Amino acid sequence: MIKKILIANRGEIACRVIKTAKQMGITSVAVYSDADENALHVKLADEAVRLGPAPSKDSYLRGDLILEHCKRLNVDAVHPGYGFLSENAGFAKECAKQGVIFIGPTIEAIEAMGSKSAAKQIMQKAGVPLVPGYHGDDQDPELIRKSANDMGYPVLLKAAAGGGGKGMRQVWSAQEFDDALAAAKREAMSSFNDDKMLVEKYLTEPRHVEIQVFCDNHKNGVYLFERDCSIQRRHQKVIEEAPAPNMPQDLRERMGDAALKAAFAINYAGAGTVEFLLDTDGSFYFMEMNTRLQVEHPVTEMITGEDLVEWQIKVANNEVLPKTQEELSMRGHSFEARVYAEDPNNDFLPATGTLSLLKAPIENRFVRVDTGVEQGDEVSIYYDPMIAKLIVWDENREKALSRLAACLADYAIGGVVTNIDYLKRIACSGPFQAAELSTDFIERHQDSIS
Ligand code: ADP
Repeated sequence: MIKKILIANRGEIACRVIKTAKQMGITSVAVYSDADENALHVKLADEAVRLGPAPSKDSYLRGDLILEHCKRLNVDAVHPGYGFLSENAGFAKECAKQGVIFIGPTIEAIEAMGSKSAAKQIMQKAGVPLVPGYHGDDQDPELIRKSANDMGYPVLLKAAAGGGGKGMRQVWSAQEFDDALAAAKREAMSSFNDDKMLVEKYLTEPRHVEIQVFCDNHKNGVYLFERDCSIQRRHQKVIEEAPAPNMPQDLRERMGDAALKAAFAINYAGAGTVEFLLDTDGSFYFMEMNTRLQVEHPVTEMITGEDLVEWQIKVANNEVLPKTQEELSMRGHSFEARVYAEDPNNDFLPATGTLSLLKAPIENRFVRVDTGVEQGDEVSIYYDPMIAKLIVWDENREKALSRLAACLADYAIGGVVTNIDYLKRIACSGPFQAAELSTDFIERHQDSIS
């Protein structure tokens, strides 16, 4: 039985996990860097231990130190949150060696999905539809160029080890190919220390629709419906929603089944997200699987009424899934807007400073604010500049969207530049209200939102 959990993370997700631990009567241990000594997650946890100096590599990425603390404090399980060590197979392996439960899937599953090209090879075998392209091990540039030419332009080059939109390049013609490949490889090398590439047909106006799956160690698997994350800037999600608007029930079921097929192909356990591109003609293609809790998981919680962190802990405890597919249902509509310390008037550069004013909308059953900061806190250069996730729910999309706009109007943050006005302009724009969603939404509607 898991009685004590260490949360190997910071900020809003550490606070989020601590809240569920408390509800379940589990003792929580926070970790912190010198920059976070007085942070909210440290205050909320039952116990807290210092890891080291502010840079992540000296603190939140120190798996060795984290495990030492686990042993010393009699911790049963580690929750890695997202980012940092959450998809680090080496860390999961070390946890297993030391007899600490890693709240996540098996090491094999993390490894298998850690490379976009290896993941696609597995999914192809399992019969999950893929974006046409080349994802082989042979990295001869001639071969990659030939598959791009055969497929026809535009194509998208992607780093196999990629994440966060890095190492990705659109290529619009054969003439551009060589330069784009070299540039993408350079970026991949510097970001991931691995310049392996794959190439895909570039879909010009797809939607990003992802399926939340959950499996236990007893061969059960369910999907908790979908999220539409098409509103992106430079391939990074800005506003997410669930369910996906205009989604026929039979398509939802086919995507859910494909996602479960993907999960079963790698003996999955715990929370996972299978990301698909949904093309204008209704075809959908596997993009990648994230083997952790996603930033945008709250919208799924709002429409299903389930606590995904509680599910994760139960699965880690070897229990069967709390619900079967038939027992799951969804109600209403939910949005999440990511509130960032960044400057929309200066190329969205991350902003820093002291939060001299922080007045979030009041939480109730329609409004949820997941945050890791309080008024007076510093937004530093060291970590992701997300200040909060604003999550709203209502019985339909239209009502939920007006609630989102109202909450954004209510949000008051001083001392640090934020993207709140920008989020508001998206939420209030005609095309967003009409749910004209595609991953190029922001580029396409630049004029009405900037
Ligand atoms: P990362 O892991 O770096 O976030 P993903 O493979 O998840 O990269 O893709 C991120 C985003 O890039 C997607 O949500 C989508 O908007 C866009 N994208 C990825 N593959 C394609 C493609 N083949 N065609 C068009 N857009 C794509």
